[in-house]
Formats: sequence, structure tokens, C-alpha cells
Amino acid sequence: MEKGEDFRFEKFSCPRCKSKKMIRFTWESGAELECTECGERFDEEDLLTIDDPSNILTVKEKLAFIRAFKKSD
Ligand SMILES: [Zn+2]
Repeated sequence: MEKGEDFRFEKFSCPRCKSKKMIRFTWESGAELECTECGERFDEEDLLTIDDPSNILTVKEKLAFIRAFKKSD
């Protein structure tokens, strides 16, 4: 997997609503894509590595999951 290749960007569609209108935000640690249709955000890493869109969690869902996990410690 090449790093920082934007050519894949056009291939992304929202895992939730299938919109191709995704805005890309980059951070030092990676990138997130925000869907302009449904407003959900996804880790670019997940879109690149997870083939089944139904297995991709939104950033919010992931944070909630991590929080729930930490509470159960
Ligand atoms: Zn969407």
C-alpha cells in the first residue's frame, strides 16, 4: 500500500450512503474522509484496508467503542 497517494480518493464512496462527495482531511497521523451527504467521518486507513463497507465504522462509532472498552477495564 503506497502512502499519501491521492489517486485513490476518487474511488472512495461513503460506506453509509455511497456518495462520492467525500472531503479529505489530513492529519500528521493519517487522514479522514468526511461525507458531504450524510456528514459521517471515516478513517482513510479503514477505507483502504477494509473491503466490506458494512464493516467500516465511522470515527464517532470508533471513539464510542474505545470509550466503552476503556470503561469495562
Ligand atoms: Zn455518506
